[in-house]
Amino acid sequence: MSRYWSAVVRGLTPYVPGEQPKLPNLVKLNTNENPYGPSPKVLEALRAETGDTLRLYPDPNADRLKEAVAACFAVTPKQVFVGNGSDEVLAHVFLGLLKHDQPLLFPDITYSFYPVYCGLYDVEHQTVPLTDAFEIRTEDYARPNGGVIFPNPNAPTGRALPLADIEKILAANPESVVVVDEAYVDFGGETAIPLVAKYPNLLVVQTLSKSRSLAGLRVGFAIGHPDLIEALERVKNSFNSYPLDRLAIAGAVAAMEDKAHFEQTRQAVIRSREALVKELAALGFEVLPSAANFIFARHPQRDAGELAAALRSRSIIVRHFRQPRIEQFLRITVGTDAQCQALTSALREILR
Ligand SMILES: *Cc1c(COP(=O)(O)O)cnc(C)c1O
Repeated sequence: MSRYWSAVVRGLTPYVPGEQPKLPNLVKLNTNENPYGPSPKVLEALRAETGDTLRLYPDPNADRLKEAVAACFAVTPKQVFVGNGSDEVLAHVFLGLLKHDQPLLFPDITYSFYPVYCGLYDVEHQTVPLTDAFEIRTEDYARPNGGVIFPNPNAPTGRALPLADIEKILAANPESVVVVDEAYVDFGGETAIPLVAKYPNLLVVQTLSKSRSLAGLRVGFAIGHPDLIEALERVKNSFNSYPLDRLAIAGAVAAMEDKAHFEQTRQAVIRSREALVKELAALGFEVLPSAANFIFARHPQRDAGELAAALRSRSIIVRHFRQPRIEQFLRITVGTDAQCQALTSALREILR
């Protein structure tokens, strides 16, 4: 705290990202990064963009990228917004579409950046408890609100909500924007993007950080009715005209175009997840059904904090949230098969 801080800064409770330790030989299963590298075509595009043109500003509208995203999902570029990671896209969404007199609704167990944005932008909000099985109950979102947001699949639970249920929430809320954060959808969820044509109140947010192995490039996007996109453009152009640099635009375009690499790596992650779930169940863990590139699991006899610490002493890092309802769970990113095996061998030792 310093006397130079503004009142706004004094009141903030910032998000705490999963750590990025710089230790060698670490089995890093704590931030849901993809264990496989990005498409070789992305690396080629980055190299081709590395030259004299870097002295010039990038396209402020990133039109090439909007076109590539639009082509992927059979929408028009006017239905696409792009930003510096989906976290930035979400920030603009909170300010531009979710800040109203009525409270914004989101689950009690969800992406912990949502309450942080509410704090930053002073957005009224209410959390809605998930069921005991950590499921979203659609009826709970049929009450007066200034907007609704949830990830699908949810984080950190990994549970997916069927499209029919998302449609119920959309239909119950014609006066509010419903944001579906699909950071993990490519690992087993069903995208709500086709519903954009029918529901002008739907905004779907995705990222290239997880299923396209580009957490380091910082690219995310939103798809929705052009009126929703225009709100986001107004915020963006009041904040930073060039959120995506030349490398990010070139790399992201190549990533959206390389469907073969995308399919191959996401299927590999899904296969490894299914194997990991079986291994953990055999070790006595209760594992929530996951449609994501991580699993959420607890051991009925062992304290999650102690398990996380014991793993850490073996250079394996997983995520543990000291938060009501989930303090006995570990969130474990699905790594390569070798990483998953390192994890299960270590757990077998720890549990012995
Ligand atoms: C990882 C994640 C994001 C943020 O992704 P970036 O594009 O890397 O900023 C957004 N929402 C959820 C639920 C996530 O897990």
